[in-house]
Amino acid sequence: MSGIDITGQKRWGIIGDGQLARMLALAAYPLGIRPVVLTGDQSSPAGQVCPLIVRGHPGSRDDLHTLLSQVDGAIIESEFVNCDALEATGLADKVVPSLKSIRLLQNKLSQKKLLNELALPTSPFQEISTREPEAAVNALAKSGAVLKFASFGYDGKGVYVLKSDDSASLQGAEDFLITARKRQISVYAEDFVPFEREVAMMTARSAKGDIKTWPLVVTEQRSGVCERVTGPAINLGIDRSTEQAAAIICEKIAVHLGLTGVFAVEFFLTRDGKLLVNEIAPRVHNSGHFTQDAGSTSQFENHWRAACGMPLGLTSTTAFFVMQNILGPPEITTKDNPAPPAPTSDIHVHWYGKRGMSPGRKLGHINAVNHDFAARGDILASVASATAQWADRQKSIYSPPTPLLEPPDHEIKN
Ligand code: ADP
Repeated sequence: MSGIDITGQKRWGIIGDGQLARMLALAAYPLGIRPVVLTGDQSSPAGQVCPLIVRGHPGSRDDLHTLLSQVDGAIIESEFVNCDALEATGLADKVVPSLKSIRLLQNKLSQKKLLNELALPTSPFQEISTREPEAAVNALAKSGAVLKFASFGYDGKGVYVLKSDDSASLQGAEDFLITARKRQISVYAEDFVPFEREVAMMTARSAKGDIKTWPLVVTEQRSGVCERVTGPAINLGIDRSTEQAAAIICEKIAVHLGLTGVFAVEFFLTRDGKLLVNEIAPRVHNSGHFTQDAGSTSQFENHWRAACGMPLGLTSTTAFFVMQNILGPPEITTKDNPAPPAPTSDIHVHWYGKRGMSPGRKLGHINAVNHDFAARGDILASVASATAQWADRQKSIYSPPTPLLEPPDHEIKN
């Protein structure tokens, strides 16, 4: 391990070095926990804020062993950790949540099977063979379907909407299955859900089994990437009974799996008010970033509290909040380090310190909160304006003005 250490504090590992690891690391210090990041790059989002690092790769058994042998416990940034490598360290019981639940939840097909087993609502699905892509696609051509990678999908990568009787879409679906076969990823098809809204709930379960949920929130996606989260959903026209139903579903999942820590459940809400579980993530999540400024306790703090055996903090929130992701603007790809939006008095900027920018890349987020629901328009406008100004600035830096093809008539020629 390299870096400055301070004795007398618990040391906890973070497996992963991206933005979630960064925000987890930042939330650890006030609790007296020394985070240790496993990373090959001290300038990664988490490496930048963490003086203690174990240099290595989260997929390597040896590097995981080096980390786990020097910490009191460890948490994961992403469910796509290498569970076999973790198990082979012989120290996997230090990891929160349990390896068993990570294994199950890192595969969306096993999630779907679990939901059926627990009789929790989700869209009908079937596993698809990638061995004969053409035949598989033909079988779905009439009905249409949503094809999904069972593992390694994120931000809509690994999701393909197969539109019925649309030849371009059918060809795209075949290509999707061929890619999955090459990458040895299983695929399933689920019914397309004509949802009215997408909603999500964050839940924390302590080591003792206490459970607290944050309010249900409304999430807005574009091309599979979360753009904005607003809430509480019950102040935005969603019934309290829907929020209660979501909380019951989250509790059932948590209790059945014996999950410790924070986890997210994403739902589709249909026009007739039915909730369907879309996805479960056994970790802190983009849908929960609002808690940093709108919640009595942030999702990051409660994750540590749960992992380290402390009581959970309260999960109440302000009357209105908005979380806006700052995403790389379309058509801009650069290795430069983009600068964050300027904070104003009513917005909080959370910047990830990433190197480089590409379209849709999550670079940071803005939170804004309001205790007076009636005044929500003001902060929505502030957030929209800060986001637009930031995007315009990137365009002015990275999209040079179109050069004049011919000199204007009045130009003086030498
Ligand atoms: P990821 O794990 O990449 O976030 P999701 O399964 O959450 O993938 O899908 C990304 C987005 O695609 C969802 O937020 C939703 O907007 C859309 N989507 C996914 N599944 C369906 C479906 N069955 N019906 C309609 N839209 C869907």
